[in-house]
Amino acid sequence: MADSVKHLAVLGSTGSIGQQTLEVLRAFSHRFRVIALAAGNNSDLLKRQIEEFKPRFVYLQDEQKLHSIAGAGYEILPPEAMANLPLVDTVVIATSGKAGLLPALAAVRAGKTVALANKEALVMAGEIVTAEAKQHSARILPIDSEHSAIWQCLNGETTPAARLILTASGGPFRNYSLAQLEKVTAEQALKHPSWRMGRKITIDSATLMNKGLEVIEAHWLFEMPFERISVLVHPQSIIHSMVEFADGSIKAQLSYPDMRLPIQFALSYPERLANPQLPKLDWDKAASLTFEPPDCDSFPCLKLAIEAGKQGGTCPAVLCGADEAAVELFLAQKIKFTDIARLVEQTLSGHQSISRPNLEQIIEADAWARQQVLNYL
Ligand code: MG
Repeated sequence: MADSVKHLAVLGSTGSIGQQTLEVLRAFSHRFRVIALAAGNNSDLLKRQIEEFKPRFVYLQDEQKLHSIAGAGYEILPPEAMANLPLVDTVVIATSGKAGLLPALAAVRAGKTVALANKEALVMAGEIVTAEAKQHSARILPIDSEHSAIWQCLNGETTPAARLILTASGGPFRNYSLAQLEKVTAEQALKHPSWRMGRKITIDSATLMNKGLEVIEAHWLFEMPFERISVLVHPQSIIHSMVEFADGSIKAQLSYPDMRLPIQFALSYPERLANPQLPKLDWDKAASLTFEPPDCDSFPCLKLAIEAGKQGGTCPAVLCGADEAAVELFLAQKIKFTDIARLVEQTLSGHQSISRPNLEQIIEADAWARQQVLNYL
């Protein structure tokens, strides 16, 4: 099996994770074959990717531009159908936000190996997605760096973990007071100190909402109760997360922050491939590694997310919907940075949660939350 070629569908190919996925595939073109590429609205980049990777199926979410990518040698096919193609064995879900949910679910239901970079699918519908994965023998392999780290630490262990410790860089505004945070601009928030990521997740990292979503994601991926998941701020972003075992021993995964490593590990698993493009940790230059507890007063999104995760039902979907809407407003300079948490909190407190929701109810809750945020304006 080790040297058989994997056949991939890359959904969200023009986004940050999608582009870095294609960088990895380019480095190991003899091992991977791109069968399908789907993107949001960047038709120019998608056209260049089609030319290079020669997929059989393509898609662009932006209907106005969909005709512009038509060409000979490939067919247009929506992402959920791509996730279902018999020819495809691995589906990379690199779509950001809520748009990743339905393709992830389709891939899981088709019994594929799902390399999952999108966290909303598990946050919004973790119970459904993980249950369907079990039922259809689909494997969900995390691409999110923290979850990849935990997965790597658990590899080979037969005793369940006692505690998961998710590390957080703390974002660009670590140590800022609430008063300073009031004045933060979108431009400042988009400058992440250590990671190269898309816009939505970069803002979520600055508010620490991202870490809260990751706690919920870890809860579902590793079947770990919320009480046994901790968050630790580690500004150097060298340790990507840790696992504590029953005997008190702690395993960590270290590397320079580069998303290509978790992407590559998910794609090459169980093998590890030598990739000269990935930077090796230089211990002569490695500064000291420091740790501190997260500041939940200045960054209330972390607590809001964990609380929504614990409440379960439709609360996590409301959290995601409200956050996505609020982040869009912040990027459009319509609200302040600190309004993101405020709007999310207001929306959550006005929500009547439904327990064990079906997919429809989850999607409705998300839509309701987005509308609430707009109404508060
Ligand atoms: Mg992450």
